[in-house]
Parts: sequence; C-alpha cells; structure tokens
Amino acid sequence: MTVLAEAAAAQPQAGPHPVVELDAVSKTYPGGVQALREVSLRIDPGEMTAIVGPSGSGKSTMLHLIGTLDRPSTGTVRIDGFDVAKLRDKQLSALRSSRIGFVFQQFHLAVGQPVLDNVADGLLYSGTAAPERRARAAEALARVGLDHRIDHLPNELSGGERQRVAIARAVVGNPALLLADEPTGNLDSVSGAGVMELLHELHGAGTTVVVITHDHDIADSLPRQVAMRDGRVV
Ligand code: ADP
Repeated sequence: MTVLAEAAAAQPQAGPHPVVELDAVSKTYPGGVQALREVSLRIDPGEMTAIVGPSGSGKSTMLHLIGTLDRPSTGTVRIDGFDVAKLRDKQLSALRSSRIGFVFQQFHLAVGQPVLDNVADGLLYSGTAAPERRARAAEALARVGLDHRIDHLPNELSGGERQRVAIARAVVGNPALLLADEPTGNLDSVSGAGVMELLHELHGAGTTVVVITHDHDIADSLPRQVAMRDGRVV
C-alpha cells in the first residue's frame, strides 16, 4: 500500500469533495503576528480562482497552508479530501508531491539540467520508471508548446518559456490542484499574457487552478476572485 493509500483508508472520502477546503483557519506566527483570521474557503474541482490582496494581507500564508508547506494554528485544512492535520509528515509529502503542482514567480528550474529532465523530475516521487517519466515529460512539454525545446537548458530560454517549463513540470503528474504564486511576476507583459493564456487553457481542459497575486488586472481576468485584506477574506 502506498503512503497515501494508507492515509485514504484512515480518512475515507465518500463521493466528490472540494479540492481545497479551509474551515475557520487562523495562522499566528511566533512573535504573535496573526497572518490569517478565521478564513473559510472552498474550491471545487475544475474551478479557476485568484487569491488577491495587497502585500501583508496573508496571501503567502494562504499559499503555504493550501500547498501543505505549513500547518494552521487553528481550524481545518483539507486538500483533495485529506485533513492535513491528520497526516504524518511522510503522508503529507506524498499528498503534496502527488496532488499539488507548484508554479513560482522565480520558476525554480534546475539550471544545469535540460528542459526534459526538469519536467520529468515532476514525477520523481510518483514511482514512475525513468523512461515513462521522460515520455510523459515530453507530452507535457508539447502541451505547453515547447516540444521543440526539450534538449535546451533553462538559461537558453526566455522568461516566458522558462515559466512554461515550470508549468509543464507542475502538471506532468496530473495533480488535483495547480497552485501558482505570482506566475507572471518576473515576466514582461507579453510573456505574462502568454502564461496566463496557458493557465486558462489548462483550466479549460479540466485542471483546477489557483493563482496567488497582488495584481488586480490578473485577478479580474479569472472566473473567481477571493480578496484578502488583513488576514481575512473580504
Ligand atoms: P502577503 O503574502 O499577502 O504579503 P503574508 O502572508 O506574507 O502576506 O504576511 C501576512 C502577515 O504575516 C504580515 O504581517 C507578515 O509580516 C506576517 N508574516 C509572514 N510570515 C511571517 C513569519 N514567518 N513570521 C512572522 N510574521 C510573518
């Protein structure tokens, strides 16, 4: 039994469930800063949502909690039906690597590694054999329009292309959730628009997408906005 199957047996999930479910979630950092205050939020499969707010409103804290990179002080976080508080560290890593695809402002690609290997690494913890990982990486790169760049190194690509590689890596394992943190923050407006278009295409094909942004134009271009201010959803 895989690590996560064991957790699923302990937390049976009857019927369809939200991809993200926060119930009265608060986060207080050591030192007493209350970054989130009783936030409740439900994101269903197939939704495309912006979490938008000014600096200091709690967006990064939300990213860390939804991405299971941190745990709440109080309240419940469920990701793809799993109550994060009830998972052991190994189960949490398995949930994160199999159910969440991350895209960051800074791309976070391995610089010395060709594009194909960067994307194949998205399947490293999935138990998929190396040839299959590379085959699926090539498919994911075709999906983002970069099949002609698979042998290139990241520093041979434009910023927009690098972010497409990062998106291919994020979706190669078919995660329940694509979680993008300021995905266009490092891009010029044309490349940024291309990346947003790609996220829309993935959403159109059924991927659940959450974009964290301070940019209201980007947020307004998505079907749903969750506005944050002072640690609350407003
Ligand atoms: P945003 O991403 O919207 O800028 P954050 O979630 O980073 O907001 O921050 C929300 C609040 O929590 C801010 O007041 C910030 O200073 C504080 N904060 C964030 N991370 C930490 C931390 N690790 N320790 C203490 N305070 C933090």
